[in-house]
Amino acid sequence: MILDAFNLDGKTALVTGACTGLGEGMARGLAEAGADIIGVYRSSPPDPVRRYVESLGRRFFGIQADLADPSCVKRIADEAVAASDKIDILLNNAGIIRRADLPDFTETDWDDVMNVNLKSLFLLSQAIAKQMIAQNVPGKIINIASMLSYQGGIRVHSYTASKHGVMGLTKIMANELAPHGINVNAIAPGYMATDNTQALRDDPVRNEQILARIPAGRWGEPNDLQGAAVFLASAASNYMQGETIAVDGGWLAR
Ligand code: NAP
Repeated sequence: MILDAFNLDGKTALVTGACTGLGEGMARGLAEAGADIIGVYRSSPPDPVRRYVESLGRRFFGIQADLADPSCVKRIADEAVAASDKIDILLNNAGIIRRADLPDFTETDWDDVMNVNLKSLFLLSQAIAKQMIAQNVPGKIINIASMLSYQGGIRVHSYTASKHGVMGLTKIMANELAPHGINVNAIAPGYMATDNTQALRDDPVRNEQILARIPAGRWGEPNDLQGAAVFLASAASNYMQGETIAVDGGWLAR
């Protein structure tokens, strides 16, 4: 029956940025659908997510790592594989943003964002794809893209470049991994109420401009991504490859 295809019982999901914002919302959703969670975090305390996941009867295993240093990816993959006999789902969610006008945009703000949002995402996908291929069971990789995978944005040069890159990588990885039974797709959230957008929401002019453009008339919430995340993590999306699903309250349709 179709709803059974969404069930994640017995699956293990490795989620980066799992302990706050959108990643926390999606980790909770994956656990509600049945998955055990391996949560990568940098500074957010993992205990609230751990308690929630365990209250559902699922397992939670935390890995502290700083994805600004891509060399940590090997340790994350090793610890994840040691914690679980198999990894079924990789949700590449961790991401940062830096804002400055073009003349003032620093090389550091370029490198930091590209390392977390794109380089570490690629290296972790590569490491976990190898593991999924070795396991010889179906796998799912979900990348978190953005409205700025489609649009240019304002004052966020490295973020826009990284998120355009995420959308492209989603397609090429999907092409190569499909024959191995691994689906690679992405979710492009719209304007969501998290720390990432606190500066925008604190600016009354930008807040009003953004809200006026969202047909749904509100900022998105982390829980708004749970449906798309569970769908892309489950057998219900087995014939989807390289797609980016916008969950944006209608922003792109406008
Ligand atoms: P957020 O609340 O700021 O969360 C960012 C997450 O990334 C946190 O869990 C954080 O972990 C993790 N992270 C950041 N730098 C890291 C690093 N160096 N190493 C390891 N983890 C790191 O923002 P969010 O809105 O939930 O963002 C989640 C994803 O959604 C990002 O990829 C973002 O680009 C994307 N997105 C957000 C929006 C939006 O409107 N909010 C829209 C489109 C796309 P710690 O908290 O543990 O440090």
